Amino acid sequence: MKPLLANRGLRLFPCCVCGEGREVRTTKKGKPYLICDPCGVQMFVRVETGIRRFEQLVADADRNHIWKRLADLEQRYQLQCPRCGKKFWLTTELIKTSWMNGTLEGYRCPEAECGGIAKPGKAA
Ligand SMILES: [Zn+2]
Ligand SMILES: [Zn+2]
Repeated sequence: MKPLLANRGLRLFPCCVCGEGREVRTTKKGKPYLICDPCGVQMFVRVETGIRRFEQLVADADRNHIWKRLADLEQRYQLQCPRCGKKFWLTTELIKTSWMNGTLEGYRCPEAECGGIAKPGKAA
């Protein structure tokens, strides 16, 4: 029997507990599974219907590059305050505040006392 999963490099699927992308591996019998070490989760898909559904989900995630996009977003939107050096994530809340003020050049450091303005795109 032909394995249902071809070896097409790294494919990821979210752990059902922490939601982090984990590598989709294949058993010797061609059935997909994934393991999340931090959560101690082992997920096996054993029957063909489930494998097809699982395949569909993985392919969707793959096609839409959601994992790469998430990683890109994380890098792009981690900011560092030039004044106190604090690293913080660009949140929708911060974006909203900046748009309301009409200041799109930077984002205010979340430290209330600091008042530093971090520029997007200059994150480390
Ligand atoms: Zn997990
Ligand atoms: Zn600061």
